[in-house]
Amino acid sequence: MITKDSIENLKNHIEIVDVISQFLELKKSGANFKACCPFHGEDTPSFVVSPSKQIFHCFGCGVGGDSIKFIMDYEKLSYPEAIEKLASMYNVALNYDNNYKQQDTSIMDKVNDYYQKLLTTNDTAKEYLQSRGISANSIEKFEIGYAPTSNETINFLKQNLLNLADAKDFGIIDNGQNGLYARFIQRITFPIRALNDKIVGFGGRTITGHNAKYINSPQTKIFNKSRLLYGYSLAKDNIYKKNQIIVTEGYLDVVMLHQAGFNNAVATLGTALTQEHLPILKRGNPKIIVAYDGDKAGLNAAFKASKLLSHSDFEGGVIIFPQGVDPADMVQYKQIEELNNIFSNPIDFVAFALDFIISQYDLNTPLQKQKAWGEANEYLQALSPIIRSEYTQYIASKLNINQNIINISSQPQRRKTVQLASVDISELEIIKTLLENDKLIDIVLNTIDPDMFVTHKAEFEMLINEPDNPQLRGLLIREDIKTYDEDSLKQRLNMMLINYYTNQLTQVKYSDIPNKAKQLRKLQEKIFRLKQGKDSIY
Ligand SMILES: [Zn+2]
Repeated sequence: MITKDSIENLKNHIEIVDVISQFLELKKSGANFKACCPFHGEDTPSFVVSPSKQIFHCFGCGVGGDSIKFIMDYEKLSYPEAIEKLASMYNVALNYDNNYKQQDTSIMDKVNDYYQKLLTTNDTAKEYLQSRGISANSIEKFEIGYAPTSNETINFLKQNLLNLADAKDFGIIDNGQNGLYARFIQRITFPIRALNDKIVGFGGRTITGHNAKYINSPQTKIFNKSRLLYGYSLAKDNIYKKNQIIVTEGYLDVVMLHQAGFNNAVATLGTALTQEHLPILKRGNPKIIVAYDGDKAGLNAAFKASKLLSHSDFEGGVIIFPQGVDPADMVQYKQIEELNNIFSNPIDFVAFALDFIISQYDLNTPLQKQKAWGEANEYLQALSPIIRSEYTQYIASKLNINQNIINISSQPQRRKTVQLASVDISELEIIKTLLENDKLIDIVLNTIDPDMFVTHKAEFEMLINEPDNPQLRGLLIREDIKTYDEDSLKQRLNMMLINYYTNQLTQVKYSDIPNKAKQLRKLQEKIFRLKQGKDSIY
């Protein structure tokens, strides 16, 4: 691990405006700098960098943090990777704990080079790629190669004095009954790169009719197929640019879609989309297009993906290729127009999931219809209330049942949301003052009741309980929200009290309660004293 001291040392050497300027064009705006946010599409800048606080924050999509966080988000790196990147950008040395050995994966590059070189001399492999319509450009871009016989690979490793233990650890070879053998034998190879661009594994397609058409590297300490997406490192810039990512099922789909200009396509590695893929998909918040085959397996996988993605609030939808046709075929047969059409008409995740559920039942019998509704409703319950109610109408019309029968309002709400929509500037000013000077918190707590925060009570409570919550970060950076010194804060709180009691007064005036006159007098006196500055305790 990188030592804490050297991370601190690095932080002292970097300046956030300088760091971000290397990636974005920043414009001065008051004490801060602004740019169009690189993490969500926008035309008017809401991405703000504060040199005084050394943080960035986007008022559009909410991303933000320090320099390291920016590099993590922008370059799609893990925390230690971002630190290493910054250290090399600014020539700062890092120290590592003794027990940490940085993973040297250079053997993967050497094997990849070897596979690529072999492809140029293997006619069968070249003919196969040609028959699938894969261009020379694509072969180069995706570094497609050819893995030879087992012996040839092992000889290559030995002759080049490569570390056989590493080769085994990274899944290139393994120990069998008759000694070492190569995992990829007479296969077209597709190197798989992690988010940091390092090769962590291979995919291989047989060209000698082996039973397993496709295989992947086995699970190793650097290769976890449920956290990787094939083609992501080549697609990532386009994913950000287009604000869309296409998720397919296979290597060839990715290669061919890129070849046809759909250069934001990636693929899962022979697995369904899982929870573990979501952090990668979330990067940059692109719309997600799940593009699967129309066979039974494809439809099932698309249903599972739709449920997973809609429950995690991802935007996007599903496209299903006609049965027996895959995107690779369509590109090969130059059906680009049709592909464009298909890709511009995805079925959104919720509608797809509901249609799929309904398709599993025979709606001619009332009992089946009821079961279909039961399953659909169970799925809907995990969605947010607005989406749920929207699609309740959809499902009612699909099942041809009266919507009044469906009572959704009695269902408990799953989500708790913090309301940030409405704004009360003076309340925000108090909160920002306390964020910058927490010594003043006692004054506020001694003067007013937290319930007196009408619009921003949630933020006030967050400030008390978890002042580091990123939801408060945007407030720190906002120039339109001013802060107070101690005296003006007291005046502000006094006004808040006056407003509070004036509201109460109005309520009592128009209510019908016992002792109304007495209550009114009490409140009037309180307000009078507050206005005179004689009373500032609630
Ligand atoms: Zn943004």
